[in-house]
Amino acid sequence: MNKTVVIGAGFGGLALAIRLQAAGIPVLLLEQRDKPGGRAYVYQDRGFTFDAGPTVITDPSAIEELFTLAGKRMSDYVDLLPVTPFYRLCWETGQVFDYDNDQARLEEQIRRFNPRDVEGYRRFLAYSQAVFKEGYLKLGTVPFLSFRDMLRAGPQLARLQAWRSVYSMVAKFIEDERLREAFSFHSLLVGGNPFATSSIYTLIHALEREWGVWFARGGTGALVQGLVRLFQDLGGMLELNAQVDRLEMEGARIRAVRLADGRLIETAAVASNADVVHTYEKLLGHHPAGAARATALKRKRMSNSLFVLYFGLNHHHSQLAHHTVCFGPRYKALIEDIFHRDTLSEDFSLYLHAPCVTDPSLAPPGCGSYYVLAPVPHLGTANLDWTVEGPRLRDRIFAYLEQHYMPGLRSQLVTQRMFTPFDFRDRLSAHHGSAFSIEPILRQSAWFRPHNRDSQIPNLYLVGAGTHPGAGIPGVIGSAKATAGLMLETLSQ
Ligand SMILES: Cc1cc2nc3c(=O)[nH]c(=O)nc-3n(C[C@H](O)[C@H](O)[C@H](O)COP(=O)(O)OP(=O)(O)OC[C@H]3O[C@@H](n4cnc5c(N)ncnc54)[C@H](O)[C@@H]3O)c2cc1C
Repeated sequence: MNKTVVIGAGFGGLALAIRLQAAGIPVLLLEQRDKPGGRAYVYQDRGFTFDAGPTVITDPSAIEELFTLAGKRMSDYVDLLPVTPFYRLCWETGQVFDYDNDQARLEEQIRRFNPRDVEGYRRFLAYSQAVFKEGYLKLGTVPFLSFRDMLRAGPQLARLQAWRSVYSMVAKFIEDERLREAFSFHSLLVGGNPFATSSIYTLIHALEREWGVWFARGGTGALVQGLVRLFQDLGGMLELNAQVDRLEMEGARIRAVRLADGRLIETAAVASNADVVHTYEKLLGHHPAGAARATALKRKRMSNSLFVLYFGLNHHHSQLAHHTVCFGPRYKALIEDIFHRDTLSEDFSLYLHAPCVTDPSLAPPGCGSYYVLAPVPHLGTANLDWTVEGPRLRDRIFAYLEQHYMPGLRSQLVTQRMFTPFDFRDRLSAHHGSAFSIEPILRQSAWFRPHNRDSQIPNLYLVGAGTHPGAGIPGVIGSAKATAGLMLETLSQ
């Protein structure tokens, strides 16, 4: 049997490759970079390990399912450590909120901000749990191939008021502005503007409360390695430095995959974990169906980009939590700038990652490895020259962190590197350098998102952030389940 080809070894590509291989379909997984993981790449500099992307691991059961269906035990491959608090949220006013899973502690902190919001929070949690059951447990791994599927979900979506934004739903329950920020910022973790993204995304709160927040011992890179090992133990083949250049067609079907080095690999089916615009424009732009889809996709709204700074210090800042959100002076206005303005704002909000709090092995003894990221506009919103803006923003962020969170930072620097929207575009082939693919607004979700199987090219499938359900590790692992279901229906016949 011809191998099935999966293009891209991000979490979505890996999860799909494991599912197919475990079901007896031989898979060749092709990754253009020198390491697997995609956005979850790993840098190693001078004894420091830096996870490039995802650090907040939620829904470990979705990961464990991949091992179980392969007849293996997750604990033989990867060790997940609980993270407490889930996040520390800080404001420039000095207010701090340690957000975790202990109801009494949470309510005590909410009371300090605004006693009336304790009751409001309880109602918000109940809403979020209802959305979680409907939007995640029931629909998160179901492919929306026809509009009928969408109509079927319609009544529940209407009942949950899915047309409202995340922020407006949170504001319905919670009065205090800081607490509104604390319970609405989550959609930014998957590229969703809390003022525009459907309130369905409040499910992230219930998801974290349900299963906790985890971190893989050795970093997210160790989780990627665990999945690669699982795939290979099942007999799957992973090729790195293998860039796919073009999908060769025969009529309406893909016949073969052409690599940048000229090789041609015949295949029964292709699943692309690559950026969806890249898939249709670059790999299939020579075919009328591909070109038409690319044109349509380029009209969709893409998620924001990110500016990420990885840095190693000869000092461990033990005052930090593992995950800190550093809110800047503006919330709504800053988010408006990030999603709609063609320049870079003067202020920023940051996410600061300090993994050595949970796993000191990620830096040499007494040292700390860190990353900090700022959401920034993608290149279609603000066509900035990041070779100029990057170093400027880096200097501003280092000065800010030193002043507010990490005294002495600049004198403790051992190593540093940046990842800008240019890198998302050039290293990950991401359209406009978006960090999370197509923006998760209601009219670009479920059936309105690129489908898990193409409607015109029957042996082309999508997996990952650009298809249903969307970005984030649970999302792309869920997309792999939806896509695998469709592929197995056809390929195992
Ligand atoms: C900085 C950052 C922090 C994040 N933090 C979190 C977090 O804490 N928790 C969370 O759940 N999510 C987080 N996310 C989101 C999450 O990381 C992503 O949504 C998810 O990892 C995307 O996975 P994916 O399967 O879509 O593939 P990607 O990771 O996008 O991988 C796609 C792969 O395809 C390869 N590829 C592309 N084109 C080709 C080609 N032509 N030939 C061969 N290979 C190709 C790319 O090189 C890449 O390796 C974060 C994202 C970023 C950027």
